[in-house]
Amino acid sequence: MLRPFILFIFVLCGTNALALSHDEVIAGAEKMYQKRMAELAHRSMLDDDEVFLRRVERVLQTLLQQARHDYPSSTLWRWEIHTSSEPDETAYCMAGGKLVVNKNQVHALNLNDAELAMLLSHEIHHALLQHNLKEYLEAMRLFPVWTTRPFSALEDAVDNDATLLQALAALNFSQESEADMEGVKFAWRAGWRASELVQFYKKLTRASATPNFDSASHPAPARRWKAARDLAATLDVGK
Ligand SMILES: [Zn+2]
Repeated sequence: MLRPFILFIFVLCGTNALALSHDEVIAGAEKMYQKRMAELAHRSMLDDDEVFLRRVERVLQTLLQQARHDYPSSTLWRWEIHTSSEPDETAYCMAGGKLVVNKNQVHALNLNDAELAMLLSHEIHHALLQHNLKEYLEAMRLFPVWTTRPFSALEDAVDNDATLLQALAALNFSQESEADMEGVKFAWRAGWRASELVQFYKKLTRASATPNFDSASHPAPARRWKAARDLAATLDVGK
């Protein structure tokens, strides 16, 4: 008679584990992205440099050709890229391939196309590796109360709730390193030399006021540069 009981528990746990799908995360990201793009457009900070926009689109297209091969399910996504001139906005890619690149950041770092490809490759790996979904599921695992609240509240909380930010910092730290490593290998497979790609991390390190400082959620720029160039040294051999 134990068996049905065990099955019941399993189904309950299973329901919790499946409380959130990647499609739901993508749909939520789409809404947040369009809202943010509308805000930037309203403030005349969206796509205000046609030449720069075309340049990031061109580099992204090369990466997306590789994504079709390496991550076939991502071909179903509605990829979108916009540029922002909001001073405080960094580059990011939301679930489902919704990208923003900050024109000021790219110009301040004086990134060439290989370095821009590295920036984009890092960012798109947060989406390709489903980092948002994993973050939300981890939040629900650590704090089951989130399984009972609207998903939109969790979307906001992972960026703004101090308790969640602290609890998820170690996961975020590992996701940053993963996006760096997978991003280098991916852009290399797309055709760039690894030694040129990792100059992005050199520029990031040189521009940082605290190049050796690991934050709770982000490895130090100097650490990222070293890891990237160690990896690059193994990739360019024979290419
Ligand atoms: Zn990142």
